[in-house]
Amino acid sequence: MDCDCPIDAELRSEISALLTPPSPAQVDKYLDEQIKSSNRHCYGIKIKQNGELGKGVYAELGFKEGELILKDQMLVGLQHSSNKIDCLVCSFCFRFIGSVELQIGRRLYLQELGVSASQGCCQTDYSSEDDDLGDSGPSSSSCKEKVPLPKGFAESLMNGALKLPYSDKFPLPPAVPCHGGCGEAYYCSKLCAESDWGLSHSLLCTGEKSEAVSRGALVKFIQHANDTNDIFLLAAKAVSSSILKYRKLKVAHSEEQENKPNVSGIPYPSLLLEAWKPMSVGHKRRWWDCIALPFDVESSDEVAFRMQIRELAFMSLQLLKAAIFDEECKSLFSLDIYGHIIGMFELNNLDLVVASPVEDYFLYIDDLPYPEKKEAEEITRPFLDALGDDYSVCCQGTAFYPLQSCMNHSCSPNAKAFKREEDRDGQATIIALKPISKGEEVPNSKSNFSLVCFTRFQYPFIEL
Ligand SMILES: [Zn+2]
Ligand SMILES: [Zn+2]
Repeated sequence: MDCDCPIDAELRSEISALLTPPSPAQVDKYLDEQIKSSNRHCYGIKIKQNGELGKGVYAELGFKEGELILKDQMLVGLQHSSNKIDCLVCSFCFRFIGSVELQIGRRLYLQELGVSASQGCCQTDYSSEDDDLGDSGPSSSSCKEKVPLPKGFAESLMNGALKLPYSDKFPLPPAVPCHGGCGEAYYCSKLCAESDWGLSHSLLCTGEKSEAVSRGALVKFIQHANDTNDIFLLAAKAVSSSILKYRKLKVAHSEEQENKPNVSGIPYPSLLLEAWKPMSVGHKRRWWDCIALPFDVESSDEVAFRMQIRELAFMSLQLLKAAIFDEECKSLFSLDIYGHIIGMFELNNLDLVVASPVEDYFLYIDDLPYPEKKEAEEITRPFLDALGDDYSVCCQGTAFYPLQSCMNHSCSPNAKAFKREEDRDGQATIIALKPISKGEEVPNSKSNFSLVCFTRFQYPFIEL
């Protein structure tokens, strides 16, 4: 396949400006703004740049073991496509939505249709503190066959006709559908719906109110990402949010020009650079250069493997271009930029995990005193049996976190990404593993995505 990108040749200087790392002073300013931003919890840390070593997170206060060091809001994140069948979560903050009944009923309904694809829960070290549930959970008695429910039961749970006992102890925010009409995105609130729309979804919505150039092309792009690698959907969010930010800056800039006609005009490429700033700060390399070679690919096939990854990215980019192209932001559609965006995720992303209320619900029933437990279980047992061993699946995805991504990695870490009982959305939470003194660096235990040994199984679309 010929995958030379004409935009790369045409806009070489714009692309190189986008890929030039910002000055240390600019990075400091940006990260400081992030630390001070109201939607983060990060009192007592400072990010320092150490020349060759890059960035690092340092404690400005002492932390006790188990204390929260950082709660970081993601820049972009997504729920894995395969996980969407098992969990209904807010497309913006990743909180579980609807009701316990809707979560269980929807999953069983989709399971009946034969589309369930759950892959077990929390296989990473970014797990909730419920590790002990595997042995003592209500459905733990070795591998059980799923027992199908009588017809119509799953639908009754889904549509609210059937209530489960004590489910009101686990209230969830109502599911707000995307106003663009895609029927794909749901939110925990109007605020999340509007925030997502303004940030990236208005360009990536497949509904009738979408602002995409071609909804048909957008559907093809999404299909291709779902068939190959959903990291392309995250890259599309990054491109889309840069375009939308650019348009907002342009409006603000032209209003300013009208008020102050004598001020010399800033050329638009500088507005694009400004819009791109959140992306520019993250460490990045081209995806096909930094992706780890699957251990079952011979080193003699390495060049061919990397070439195929590049071709795959090119194919995805062409589909995205047909869907949301913007002439004024043309350089964002270069293969070099697209490769660097995905490479940044490959190098820095953290698994996004949110614990499911379904697990809490069944444990609550399991812990009820007699006779309440027996009465409740008469109703809940058929649902538990139908769900089988993996009765609860957590929301799983991937996200880029601006501050967490500045942490260096250590073999004897003093902090780790860890979700506490109260952490019920997609934010990254970093907890002290041992006492940390003022001035100490805070490295965490997360291993780089690219250091994980993949097998070719992870790349079924690659033929070698
Ligand atoms: Zn939300
Ligand atoms: Zn939508």
